[in-house]
Order: sequence, then C-alpha cells, then structure tokens
Amino acid sequence: MESYFQHQADLAKKECKMQCPDDCRAPGCRLAEVIVETTLFDLIRLSLVLNTPVSSLFLHHCHLGLQSCEQNLRYQRLLIKLKKPCRFLEKSRCAVHGSKPLNCVLFPEYHHIKGLVSALVRGPVFSKFPCLKNEMFISDQRSTALKKLRLMSRREEALSGFFIFNTPPYIFDSKPLTKHLKKENPNKKPITLKDYDRLINEKLKPTGLLDSINDKISRLDTRAGMESLFEKLKDDALMKPLLAKMDTPEIVYKLKGNSLKRLKRRLQPSEFYFR
Ligand code: SF4
Repeated sequence: MESYFQHQADLAKKECKMQCPDDCRAPGCRLAEVIVETTLFDLIRLSLVLNTPVSSLFLHHCHLGLQSCEQNLRYQRLLIKLKKPCRFLEKSRCAVHGSKPLNCVLFPEYHHIKGLVSALVRGPVFSKFPCLKNEMFISDQRSTALKKLRLMSRREEALSGFFIFNTPPYIFDSKPLTKHLKKENPNKKPITLKDYDRLINEKLKPTGLLDSINDKISRLDTRAGMESLFEKLKDDALMKPLLAKMDTPEIVYKLKGNSLKRLKRRLQPSEFYFR
C-alpha cells in the first residue's frame, strides 16, 4: 500500500510547475458545484497520513451526492464527494497537499492536457477560475505522469463503486427526483445540485443503502480491511469487467417510494462527464 501511494506521490510531483495563482481564493475547494469525487483509496491515503480512521474521514469530510451525465441530464451518477467548503482548506491553502485526492492533483493540468478548458470556462462556475484563464505549459513528462494518475484514479473509482454500491457506476434516473423537487418547491429555479444531493440522501435512508455503505467503509478502519481492498485493485480479472461497466453502464436505478427499482438501460460512453 505504502509503495503504491509513494508511486502516486512521485507521479504527482513529476516536473510539477503548477502553483495556484495568488489571486485564487480556492473556489474549487469551496463551491459545491465543483464536484471533487473522492475514492476509498484517497481516504485510505489520508487515513495513513493523518492517522485517522477511514470511516471518520468519510463522515467528516465527505458525503454521497450526484453528478450529471453530461449529454443526458436525466441520468446522474451517485458518488463520494468532498464536502464543501472542503474541511482541509486552511486560509486558501490545502492542508493535505501531499496526500490530497487524485482529482485535486489532476485539476486543472489534466483538463488543459485533454483540451477540456474551453468547454469548462463556457459554464458559469469555472469562468472566473484564474488557473483556467491562460494557456499552461505542461512538459511531456508531466503530461505522461498525469495521464498515469488518471488511469489509476479511474481504476480506484471503479473499485470504490463496486465495494460500496456492488456495482460501478451507480446511476439514477433522476426524473422522479426532479419531479419531487419541483413539487416540493414550485417557485425554486433552478434546481441545484445541493437540492438533488439532499433529496437523494433523504430518499436512500429508508432503503438501507446508506447503513450498508457505512458498514462497508468501517471495514477499512483496519489494516487487514485496507489490504484486502488493495488486493482487489491488482486483480485484473475483477477490474477489467468493472472498468468496462464504467464505460458502458447497463443498469440504472429508479426510486419508487422507499425502494430502488433496477432498470436495464444501455448508456453510451459519450454520456459521461470525465472522458
Ligand atoms: S483536498 Fe485540498 S485541494 Fe482538494 S478540495 Fe480540499 S483543500 Fe482543495
């Protein structure tokens, strides 16, 4: 485990010239609209560094929430997000810089490499980010290191989803949620991500899913629990189909009263946000 995280830390530092601009007030670390997906491996890394149980980090720093599938807003993926403002933020600086979640490491350089910045700044949330205003020089070696980290984080996302939800990715048909939110407050426009996150947590409580997730996460409070999850990450026979499911999910969940209905729907890769 330690050597895996050391390898990640080496990749994160590789030819890194990235420094948050002085005029940045860390909006990405503060705004709920900027989703920082956090994997169980991010939590384990932080747990080892901070000497704090994984379950306690999950409870105090994270919550479950939804992220829209970009080209089909009817579908939303359930994931672990950092709470905002992030509780690791200290006076506009990250208190866990050397061990922060991989998605924090990747932003914004990976988005520059992948040519995603122009699309991001067209939206209202990212348009004022100082780190997205100018071109950024990223060396070939740095670019390779970040791509490797992204592949690792993709694998971690798939296994985290499998571990806590029994399936990656866990996608909801959000139509009933939207209907509920509109009925709840007909004058509220637009419906925000916070509204969806609050409602999905309320709705999932009676299904027993939240209790089962908390139980599973508390298994990672022991060294044996962590190591057992790491063994799975190395198992290509397990990981290959999980990664394929992440790319082309076939199951979507729909809330019906206090239960979850499983529906067969084949979504295309292009419908997902981080490609
Ligand atoms: S972990 Fe650090 S970089 Fe990531 S959102 Fe929190 S304060 Fe910001």
